[in-house]
Amino acid sequence: MPYYLEPSLNVTVVSPTKVQLSNCANEITLEHQNVNLKDFLGLVDNPNFPACLEEQSNSDVLNEIFKFFIAHHFLVCKAVENHDALSLDLQVQNKITIPDYETTYPKCMKNIDLNTVNVFGKGVLFARVVKELINQSIQVFENPEPDKMGSGILLCCSDRPNAAFFKQINAIANKEKIPALFAQLNSNTAVVGPLVVPDETSCYSCYVHRAEPNINFVEEAAAIQQNKGNLLASKAVPSLYALETCFHVISQIVKFQNRAFHLCLINEVLELNLLDYQLDIRPVIRVPRCEHCYSEKNALPATAVRALI
Ligand SMILES: [Zn+2]
Repeated sequence: MPYYLEPSLNVTVVSPTKVQLSNCANEITLEHQNVNLKDFLGLVDNPNFPACLEEQSNSDVLNEIFKFFIAHHFLVCKAVENHDALSLDLQVQNKITIPDYETTYPKCMKNIDLNTVNVFGKGVLFARVVKELINQSIQVFENPEPDKMGSGILLCCSDRPNAAFFKQINAIANKEKIPALFAQLNSNTAVVGPLVVPDETSCYSCYVHRAEPNINFVEEAAAIQQNKGNLLASKAVPSLYALETCFHVISQIVKFQNRAFHLCLINEVLELNLLDYQLDIRPVIRVPRCEHCYSEKNALPATAVRALI
């Protein structure tokens, strides 16, 4: 069976007697193994690896290094095609994390096409996100009609708050049972999330409802959200703000694709001030009888199972 070095692994000579091996999960220094490690790394590409280790004069040590590399996922059995560091780090994290209740797959996952994204909106953030998704080899449907949508996640982008439009996409997501992510710029603040999983999480309408008590000037905020009566719209182009926000949007899509749900903005919203870097991750608790995500089916309690002892 061929083995491949995990592409995000770094091996650094620290001193004549120390070598450090590192990736996102491990930073391990080995002492007095510099020569053996160099020999080992030189043999991994040998077509006869790992059998060829036996032919070496230091085979005992090399076999121990082989076991050490396997145990720490520094060697993998399948060639990794995507060399993007974020995806690689997520794959390593998935291997070392013991799944718990937080990493249970959403029920709708089996119906979702992870290689496509339906992107809704317009503007600078929208254009940049579309471009970067294509760079990531993800197929993009731009503003598809509901009947022409693929079964990929819905992604809604806007250069300014636009609650009415976001609620429309939120309603489609809940009706079609397809997850959706929301991202907007509000002046110099990036607002990314929530990532909505229909029937299982709070939705965009819940977020709007929950945000209201935190707003100091409710009338003003409502007027901005509805984009009505705007006497002068900003002529400034949010290129750099969109550049920064785009990373967080793509990162969420990649995390969702890699099933790293504990790192997704599920029931959460990221608010990042792009001038002073103040960052908040705000919880979004589901609103009982929310206009979009409530259904009688979801309101029923789970079937009780009792131990008969
Ligand atoms: Zn809701």
